[in-house]
Amino acid sequence: MRASIQVGKIIGIPIRLHISFLFILPVIVVMFAEASEPVGLGDIENLSQYYRYIFAALATILFFFSVLLHEMSHSYVAMGYGAKIHSITLFIFGGLAMMDDIPKEPGKEWRIAIAGPAMSFALGGAFLISYFGLKYVNLPIYYPAQVLLFGLGYLNMVLATFNLLPAFPMDGGRVLRALLAKRMSFLQATKKAVFVGKIFAIIMGIVGLMPDPFHYYATGDVIAPFNLFLIFIAIFLYTAATEEERATTTFAMLEGIKVKNVMRSEHTCVLDDMPIMELSDKMLAEKTYEYAVVGASGEPKGFVTFGEIKALSNEQRYIFKVSDLIGSFDRVSDVISEEEEAVEALKRMLKAKKNVLAVVEAASGNFIGVITRANLATYIEMLKGRV
Ligand SMILES: [Zn+2]
Repeated sequence: MRASIQVGKIIGIPIRLHISFLFILPVIVVMFAEASEPVGLGDIENLSQYYRYIFAALATILFFFSVLLHEMSHSYVAMGYGAKIHSITLFIFGGLAMMDDIPKEPGKEWRIAIAGPAMSFALGGAFLISYFGLKYVNLPIYYPAQVLLFGLGYLNMVLATFNLLPAFPMDGGRVLRALLAKRMSFLQATKKAVFVGKIFAIIMGIVGLMPDPFHYYATGDVIAPFNLFLIFIAIFLYTAATEEERATTTFAMLEGIKVKNVMRSEHTCVLDDMPIMELSDKMLAEKTYEYAVVGASGEPKGFVTFGEIKALSNEQRYIFKVSDLIGSFDRVSDVISEEEEAVEALKRMLKAKKNVLAVVEAASGNFIGVITRANLATYIEMLKGRV
């Protein structure tokens, strides 16, 4: 995920802060310092501004660790099932663990999903127990800590409950999908869970748009800030649900399809010593905009695309050869066997931010074609037409 900075590593997992999280941090500090009970110190009269903000900053750090532990909990269970965790990113609405090779079995998926809210409930419980502990001691000096412990307990409980909403992509939505997937296909289960998620998002949006009667009664303002927050969450949930459905549909439709079913085996390559002028004529004639570049012995050396030619000046087009335009090329990640799954090709392209891979014959390793993102997109569209 872009627009985020790495702040450290825990059990080998890079921890990143998204820019939106950095914006929300001061807001949380102010909330802890100024808001009324149960979450803030605003009602305590004989507490100086200085201490108010020191306590609030401490509570914010504890809140940050609470969200982090929620994500670590998902990751820990997933790692136990053999998933690879690339990073954990904290952003404005919470956290996101970026994983690969997530097990598809429903029995494992719901356990990974439930681990986060379970951790938040446990943390909430621990904060609330500490709150009652300090209350039992009942010394005035502890009072601000006591209020914040209650606030943290309360927020963790809200975090756990909110995440358990059966609305995709919340954790509860994943649990719902896993339970549905026991009785139907993964794709159908995703569609049902996404549908429930969208209904929740729409209801949330409508509630957010209506003036809160209590707030209106108290202040006379028509729109309470909390409602705006709800509208934001509703929009976020709706987009995320749509995105998840799209991704799952793509991956599910390509299931069982091999690279050789989708690859292009004509107009696939050009020699590395071909002049650019000749190449642009070839592109026009063959209506093909990306080629693998091969050496004299036929082995792939890289790719050349129309975009790269477009960026050249007229003089450069006369002087350059294809070999001058070959970009980065990795013999492992940019080459794929014809027998591999088409989904694997898509994953590699997404990861390397490339639009094309070279395809080799399984037995000989000889270059036999290319597979492009456009090929995959067309193929998926044609499959959709058949369903
Ligand atoms: Zn979660």
